[in-house]
Amino acid sequence: MSELKSKPDPSRRAFLASAAVAASAALVGGLRPATARAAGSKLPHLTDANAMAKSLGYTPNHNEVKTAQFPTYKAGEHCSMCRFFKGTPGEKSGYAGCQIYPGYSVNAQGWCASFSARS
Ligand code: SF4
Repeated sequence: MSELKSKPDPSRRAFLASAAVAASAALVGGLRPATARAAGSKLPHLTDANAMAKSLGYTPNHNEVKTAQFPTYKAGEHCSMCRFFKGTPGEKSGYAGCQIYPGYSVNAQGWCASFSARS
């Protein structure tokens, strides 16, 4: 019996190690969206002074999409519904990063021709 107490149980040790790794990953993963949001909101706002944004018809207000020029726009689509938006899905206001425009933040209610609905 004393032999059992003195020897570490390798399966228990492995379990504890993997649980610690999983807990760390969950913590980091849980913090990332808020961190990304905070970082995204501090980035300069994207405008049509950016050549790519201009060519893709980015506007911070999806109600102002030039539909004749960008007929792929469907009423109601906006950045916080897009898979490239780094903020909170469905958020109604504010700015967050966008994977298409690194170094800039886009309006949650904006839109551009790269819009791709979240699945
Ligand atoms: S790619 Fe999506 S999130 Fe980025 S600006 Fe265009 S519509 Fe908005």
